Parts: sequence; structure tokens; C-alpha cells
Amino acid sequence: MIEISKPTFDEEVENEVLAVIRSGQIAQGPKVEQLESLLSAITGCSHVVAVTSGTVALELALALLDLKPGDEILTSPFTFGATLNAIIHAGATATFVDVDQDGLMNVDLIDERITGRTRALIPVHLYGLPVDLGHFKTDASIFIVEDAAQALGAEVNGKSVGGLGLGCFSFYATKNVTTGEGGAITTNDRVLAENARILRNQGMRARYEYVVPGHNLRMTDLQAALGIPQLKRLTAINHARTRNATRLMTELSGIPGLKVPAPRAHRTHAWHQFTVKVTAEARLTRDDLQSQLAAQGIRSGIYYPKALTDYPCFSEHPQVRVTDVPNSRLLASEVLSLPVHHGLHDADIDRIVKEVRDALGA
Ligand SMILES: *Cc1c(COP(=O)(O)O)cnc(C)c1O
Repeated sequence: MIEISKPTFDEEVENEVLAVIRSGQIAQGPKVEQLESLLSAITGCSHVVAVTSGTVALELALALLDLKPGDEILTSPFTFGATLNAIIHAGATATFVDVDQDGLMNVDLIDERITGRTRALIPVHLYGLPVDLGHFKTDASIFIVEDAAQALGAEVNGKSVGGLGLGCFSFYATKNVTTGEGGAITTNDRVLAENARILRNQGMRARYEYVVPGHNLRMTDLQAALGIPQLKRLTAINHARTRNATRLMTELSGIPGLKVPAPRAHRTHAWHQFTVKVTAEARLTRDDLQSQLAAQGIRSGIYYPKALTDYPCFSEHPQVRVTDVPNSRLLASEVLSLPVHHGLHDADIDRIVKEVRDALGA
């Protein structure tokens, strides 16, 4: 079976983890600090605060914004539930900008969605392709929280994601770099970073110096030890993914009913997912193509099967303002992510190409 994601750990990872086990210091310590400084170098952000997951990173980011009930946060309806859950738990009201053909928040539609209550914007760098906020001119009162969970290493105009306000990264098991569970906030704002560290550690500025009711959101050195060697190899990891994606783009082009993703100018894709669209012209439906590939030993994924506004728990929620999002709904019916991860061999790509072409009669 060719899996859609497969964490692989080399000897260096094993040695790092073993060293932590033997050190006796397994909770947050020097390894977490090292992971934070590696992430700081990768993103170019001066402050990094490691936490227990990408979801927690989003929740913590929003907790730093001092939101009031009725404050609005704009995001994409075509994302993982964590993005919207974080808004709801922060006490704010979620409003939506429909997506473009890549599944990213359509930047041209942002302005018309902004109201006097809009406090923050959460662009989601879906599949590892960064949102280029380019011609959206943010006024200082709208804070940007990037959901960069899928986009470690992605860049816009040579600048890493995560530096626009608060960046939220995930190291969940399926992500390009993984610590099993884990996440981090990035920022260039010293005060926000300090406050994030205080909230992460029970609201203490120093030991037993409580300044605010906080939480325990700390990553462990065991998790950090898993992540450190991967962060050191991030360029190679994302390069391998890019090579796989480039082959898939070329070798799957020109098939009737299949749209492959296209490179976007001035943007570096982290290729977390390689997502094709299976349109009405295809010989098989998207779901039938997925089953047929599975029968041939190739796993694929549907990210995501619905717009979030199509789930009653969200659409009926008093803190969610539902709007018409036709592009998100269309994409939800067409998208299929094929394996692209850095553990794949050339022969795996050969097989994926062959099976997709065979299934679609190309
Ligand atoms: C993975 C992911 C998250 C949540 O990260 P966890 O580490 O799983 O909590 C949030 N947003 C998006 C877009 C993700 O893909």
C-alpha cells in the first residue's frame, strides 16, 4: 500500500530521543528551546513558542488578542475544523471568505466581508500553498493569524509564512515535520510572545509568579527531540516533496476530467498535499476513483469532503455567520489528494501515475 502520509525516522531521530530518555529530563527543557530556535531560523520570526498541538497554537494565538463577544474573525470555510473551533472557543463570531481555484481564501473578496467588528483574519495556507495577501491592504486594527499548520517552509516572495502577525504551525503525525502531536506559534512581536509563554505555563511570569489565569500548553523534550533532526533536514524534506509533485503535475497533465495543481508565481509550495480535482467530465466520479486507487494499493485523501458551513454543528452555532460559499462546495465535491510525501520512491510515483491514468482511461 502506498500511504497518503508516512512518518519515517532515521537513526539521528532515534539517537536524539534516546538521549532525552537517558537524560532524565523529559518535560519542557533545552530540547524544546532548540526546536524553537530552529523554527525561528526557518521562518525568520524572532519569537517562537512551542505548544502541544496546532489546534492549541490557534487557540493560544486568539487568546492573545483580547477578543470580546461579537468581535468577528474572517477565515476560510474550506479548512480543517480546528481553525473554526478555535474562533468559537475564543468567544468570537466566525465569518467567511469563499475560496479560489486553489482552495485558498479568495483575497479579492476579503474587503467586502470586513465590517466594523472584524478584528482578525485567519488565512489558511491549505495543502502547503501559501495565501498571498499581496493586494489586500490590512488596516492596523485587523490582526493576521496564519493557519500555517500545513505550510512549514512555504514562502511568498521569498518570505516564510508565519511572519504576518501570529503564525500557527502543527507537528501532527501527518504533517511535513512531525512530533506525533505538537505545534508552535511564531511572531515578531515581543510582547505577544511573552504573553504566549506566560499563558503556556499556568499564567506564571516566573515560578509561582501568577499574573493571569493560564494553562499547561507545554511541549515535552521528548517531542522536541523527534522534531529537531527533521527541522534540520526541512529543505531536503520539502525538496523531495517538490520533486514528487513536479513529476505528478507533468505526468498527470492532459487527462480529461482531471485538473492538476499548478505552480503559482512568487510562491513556494510546501507540498503538504498534492490535490487534484476530478470534474464532471471524468470517466469516474471522484469517489469511484478513490476506491479504484485503493483497490490498486494507492491511498488517497479527501481534504475536505464538505465546507465547514455545511455541518449543522457549525451552521446552527450562534457564533457562526453562514454565507454562500459556492467555490468551497464545488471543491469539496472534486478534490482528491494523492500521495506526495518525502518517503515515496520514484517507482511509487510511477505506480500512482499509471493507476490514475488507467482508471481515467487516459
Ligand atoms: C493539522 C491542522 C490543524 C491542527 O493541528 P493539530 O496539530 O492537529 O492540532 C489546524 N489547521 C489545519 C489547516 C491543519 O491542517
